This record gives sequence, C-alpha cells and structure tokens, in this order.
Amino acid sequence: MRLREKVAIVTGAAGGIGREIARAFLREGAKVAIADLKGDVASATAAELDPTGTRAIGVAMDVTDEAQVEAGTAHVVERFGRLDILVSNAGIQVVAPVVEFAFADWRRVIATHLDGAFLTTRAALRQMYRQKSGSIIYMGSVHSKVASVLKAPYVAAKHGLIGLARVVAKEGAEHGVRANVICPGFVRTPLVEKQIPEQAALLGLTEEEVVRKVMLKDTVDGEFTTLADVAECAVFFAGFESAALTGQSIIVSHGWTME
Ligand code: NAD
Repeated sequence: MRLREKVAIVTGAAGGIGREIARAFLREGAKVAIADLKGDVASATAAELDPTGTRAIGVAMDVTDEAQVEAGTAHVVERFGRLDILVSNAGIQVVAPVVEFAFADWRRVIATHLDGAFLTTRAALRQMYRQKSGSIIYMGSVHSKVASVLKAPYVAAKHGLIGLARVVAKEGAEHGVRANVICPGFVRTPLVEKQIPEQAALLGLTEEEVVRKVMLKDTVDGEFTTLADVAECAVFFAGFESAALTGQSIIVSHGWTME
C-alpha cells in the first residue's frame, strides 16, 4: 500500500479518469474525497468505490465556484483531519474552429481547467502548508505539449497547467509541497466518446477515421491509453515523497509525443 492513511481530493471523480484514480488511491490505502458537480452522484460513486463508507466521501464541488471549492475543501479536512493529495482533474471539451468559437464556450473551457486548478490549489495549499507536506497533481494532456485543430481553449488551458504546476513547485518547496502534471493521450471516456462524432462532422471523416487518422495517428501502436495507465501515474506522483520530482510532467500516450 503506497498511500496508506493519506487523504486525497480528486476533482471530477464521479466519472472517467478521476473515478479510476479514486479507485486506485483507495486500493493503495488512501482516504478519498470524490469531488464533482452533483453531490448525489459523487456520494453514489463514493459508496460504490468504498462500500464500508469509511474511506470515501462524496463532495459537491463545481471547481469554477470559489465558495464551493472553499467549503468542499474545508469539509474534507474536517472529516479526515488532513489533506495530502489534490488531483485537479475535472475537465470538459468543446470542439470548433477558432474562427467560429463562441466566446462563452471559450470561457467555460478555460474556467473549468484553469480557474478550477487555481481555486482547488489555493484551498489545498492552505492546509498543506500547515502540515508542511503535500502533493498536487494536475490532469494535463498531450495537449499540454502539442496542438490539435478545433481545440483552442483546451490546448491553451492544458499548456497553462504546466506553468501553474511550475509556480506551485517553486512556491511550495519550502513548505514540503510538490506539484506535477500527468499528460495522457486519448482515453476512451465520455469526454472522448462525445468528440468522435463531433470531429467526424467537422472534419468530414467517418468516426472510425477520426479514431485512426486523428486520435491515434501519431501513437507508436495505434492504441488508446487506458484508465489504469493514467491512474498508475497518479499513484506514482502521489507516493513519490521527495522534491526530486516536482514541477515535472509525464506523458502517458503510447508515444504520441516524446517531447
Ligand atoms: P469525463 O467527462 O469522463 O469526466 C469528467 C468529470 O469532471 C465528470 O464527472 C464531470 O462531471 C466533472 N466535471 C466537469 N466540470 C466540472 C466542474 N466544473 N467541477 C467539478 N467537476 C466537473 O472526462 P475524462 O476523460 O475523465 O477527463 C478527466 C480529465 O482528464 C480532464 O481534465 C481531461 O481534460 C483530461 N484528459 C482526458 C483525456 C481523455 O482522452 N479522456 C486525455 C487527456 C486528458
């Protein structure tokens, strides 16, 4: 058990990648707050992942809402007594060419990824600085390193997370806090399933062509990255105790990019 008695908040953990990270953290002995938009869904996920009801809780948290982030984080610290790990994972995707991108959609994507990362980081750091320890993990993307058409705010936000992680790594060092970024390639979650028909329509391709010629084109083996692959990286960053590994990003993408 690599995370015995650690306390973690995972945002966007009612589904997809966040849920798998929560499951892996529980397996490794952590106590986990499943933070997501809808409190009842987050609580149902917590109950499913931890039938004992003692090590996982659901927390209603829209990561773009300052008051909800503050209240949710305080609730976790009150319930479990500390906070060791934040996984800032909640995310959304909207695809369109820049020339047609609605400003409201641009703002929604930027807010979810960047405001969400900032607000959850700030709330977590207050507790982590008191404890003199902590690990913050941002869910970046291959799009933290490279660009794709149709994804302007997503690519901009994911690049921005690398900058935020580096600042938190520098400021957090004297308080024992590390910050790192996981950069997955395509993983078959609802976020990606939704994009396949959207991109097919926008690019004039079949759905099978979107998968083969767009999403997995540059991988070494034409394979999707799995939920388990990403969760394992999160366990690795969370359990790595020294500041030898801070301000870093790890790409888990079947070799899509090797930067
Ligand atoms: P998903 O759609 O399956 O799950 C996202 C979760 O985030 C959902 O439970 C949703 O309710 C929650 N969420 C959305 N907005 C929120 C908000 N404002 N506050 C709190 N929760 C919110 O998506 P996923 O594929 O699991 O993506 C998770 C993260 O991984 C995202 O940051 C995404 O950008 C990143 N990522 C995904 C892939 C991929 O291929 N799936 C690749 C690279 C990076």
